[in-house]
Amino acid sequence: MNNEQTVPVGESAFLKPSAEDWLILEDKINESKLRFQETIFTLGNGYIGARGILEEGHSKNYAGTYIAGVYDRGEGQSYEIVNIPNPVNVEILINGKKLSTEGMELIQHQRILDTQKAVLRRHSIFSDTGGRYEYESMRFFSLSDIHLGAMTFSMRLLDADSHVVVKTTIDGATRNEIRAAGEPIQHYTVTQRSTHGDEISYLEAKTNDLDIVIGVASAGEMEKPVPESGVTVRSYTEGESTVQEFSFEAKKGDKYQFNSYISIYSSRELKLAPKMDCINGVKMARRHGISGLLKRHVKAWASRWEDSDIEVVGDPQSQKALRFDMYHLLIAAPPQDIDVSIAPKALSSEWYNGHIFWDTEIHVLPFFIYTQPRVARDFLMYRYRRLQKARQASKDRGYKGALWPWESAASGEDETPQTWVNFDGTRIPVYNSLREHHIASDIAYAVLHYYEASGDEEFMLRYGAEMIFETARFWASRATYESEKQCYEIKEAIGPNEFQESVDNNSYSNYLAKWVLSSGSELYYNLRNKHPHILKALAERLKLQNREADNWREIAGKIVFLIDSKGLIEEFEGYFGKKDVTINEWDENNMPVWPSTVSLAEVKGTQLVKQADVLLLLNLFSNDFSVDAKKVNLEYYEKRTVHKSSLSIPSYAIMALETGDIEKAFEYFSLAVNSDLHDVYRNTDHGMHAAALAGAWQIAIYGFGGIRLRKGDLIANPALPNRWQKMKFRLWFKNSLIEFAVSNNETKVIMLKGQRSVNIELYGNRYCLEKGKRVHASRK
Ligand code: BGC
Ligand code: BGC
Repeated sequence: MNNEQTVPVGESAFLKPSAEDWLILEDKINESKLRFQETIFTLGNGYIGARGILEEGHSKNYAGTYIAGVYDRGEGQSYEIVNIPNPVNVEILINGKKLSTEGMELIQHQRILDTQKAVLRRHSIFSDTGGRYEYESMRFFSLSDIHLGAMTFSMRLLDADSHVVVKTTIDGATRNEIRAAGEPIQHYTVTQRSTHGDEISYLEAKTNDLDIVIGVASAGEMEKPVPESGVTVRSYTEGESTVQEFSFEAKKGDKYQFNSYISIYSSRELKLAPKMDCINGVKMARRHGISGLLKRHVKAWASRWEDSDIEVVGDPQSQKALRFDMYHLLIAAPPQDIDVSIAPKALSSEWYNGHIFWDTEIHVLPFFIYTQPRVARDFLMYRYRRLQKARQASKDRGYKGALWPWESAASGEDETPQTWVNFDGTRIPVYNSLREHHIASDIAYAVLHYYEASGDEEFMLRYGAEMIFETARFWASRATYESEKQCYEIKEAIGPNEFQESVDNNSYSNYLAKWVLSSGSELYYNLRNKHPHILKALAERLKLQNREADNWREIAGKIVFLIDSKGLIEEFEGYFGKKDVTINEWDENNMPVWPSTVSLAEVKGTQLVKQADVLLLLNLFSNDFSVDAKKVNLEYYEKRTVHKSSLSIPSYAIMALETGDIEKAFEYFSLAVNSDLHDVYRNTDHGMHAAALAGAWQIAIYGFGGIRLRKGDLIANPALPNRWQKMKFRLWFKNSLIEFAVSNNETKVIMLKGQRSVNIELYGNRYCLEKGKRVHASRK
């Protein structure tokens, strides 16, 4: 075995690397950026999420591995996503010395995340007094077999023969450390460690509170030909870990290749203990081999991308960033699971405890509605299956209907922590679960949006309608009638701008409540006409009568909405009376600098806004507001919004676009699309910003693509930024896959899949799309 030439892993037969604009590169290790890079390089398949650690470990790294939906808690705390045992550890000892970026020099290094194929590749050359050592690796978590992961790695001594020991470990001592509250905590106890022959190790752990059993198996192999002097293979347990070890005499210049197969199951999705599944899993993986597994994985990814990709011509930077963002959304898309949803950090970290917020329904869901509608439906099912808990929560607070929790985990109970860390590091009480009730409307909005885009009647009749009715009921009981003013008000609320912790008549909340109430009433009568039997059964179950539906309409008509004759919307009652502070400085990322005259404690006395609130409302209900109204509000709120949440920028971008300022929209787009790649919020080390990633997609599709829904039709009014010559994307609409190819003033649309014709309005003209028929239109 004498390899003269290095063939970087990934360029060998089993994997051709993707084109440049799918690749994210790292070419040196910067210790202070280690965690940032780990987040960026997260791998996953919706079932498992695993941070992109250096597999040999590092004292500053953070090995986070998560199974979607596996939460546990410490005593008196809320449930948080569990950092499970870590199966990605490779220790290579050369004459007893560990191959590591700590204690050795790294004379060459490259890691590449291939976002098209969802694999992480690496090539490093280490050096110390003993010589130089080359190391290469490639790993992935399979999208086609979601319980499997695989890694292949090789090592080569470049200067001298040595004794080499290679260990792969399942580490059963991981803890949740990225926490806002409390000490690091291990949410599980290792209950079993076993070896099965020399080649398979198994580790089983049980979570402390819910007794969820997590099984991790690993099978290692050394590729042939093995060294002439032979190799000793051992499997053993050590501390809280299982280890597989290969030791041999390595010859200078020879390349030694190892494969490691991983299988992960938990009792959350299995009825029986996971052991047999894990062991059979790694055996099967080994039979497929790395290249077999990889082929299936890459094929599964190709089909994901087929519906999701956005192609941009003329701006390689945006192209790459967009794909990177979508990659991170796709690796968090649950595989056919109606009991999990997507958290603010997706599966890249445990920050925000892995809880489910409104981020999903309002910010993330549109991406899935139009590219992976089945996943969007599952996210909504996650809420439906927790409707009973939402009813109870509403009742406990003295309301009717359903109020989903501000933060949710597995059970659907309210998991919002009591305290949190403020931007300056101080601990503050959290009132969101008490008052941030727009979450109920956000879910209802998502239900109707999904329904309108997908036409999924079955979902609506079986689940969606019930969710809408219960939300309408909630608002009917939550709004209070003011007899003097003869109107309904919503008092003591928190809107999206969380700087204000108790306001009356927050416009976002009021408008959505109004809309839910009128939609509920309309839906009731629609169903009564079109599906009387279904309505009858549902109404009987919910004890719902015409009178109640009429009352919803009545309340909707009388809910306060603070808008003046020019269309300027007051964020909440009394907002304009607060101290007026505006932003006049921006940092190197073009993000607003916090005005130095205002302390954090004082912010609630000012008009400073944490994140899009009124602007989000305009974005969600774009059809309801005139361009002039959008302009007035954009101008007013832009100067006062500090964007202290990554949920904020996309609405500003889209409103800039809808008011004709395409270059400003592009600036906002650049911020959103690079939120994590450029660490715009300076906390990507704590995990990805799922809402911003999906927000970048929204800017591209709603903004530059000009895609909106209106009364059941698809509207397209594309307008590309100057530097974009072309943009191509596909959307699912009413069971049809439609492709848009936009160049400056022209758009070609074709229905690629679908049975029925759909109506589309392109640059103001109506067309009827049928399968295979191309529509070609130009902007007048
Ligand atoms: C968020 C709240 C959340 C709290 C605790 C804060 O940063 O703004 O919405 O409830 O963290 O998770
Ligand atoms: C935002 C919330 C958001 C939460 C999780 C907070 O900073 O204000 O709107 O739900 O982060 O992303």
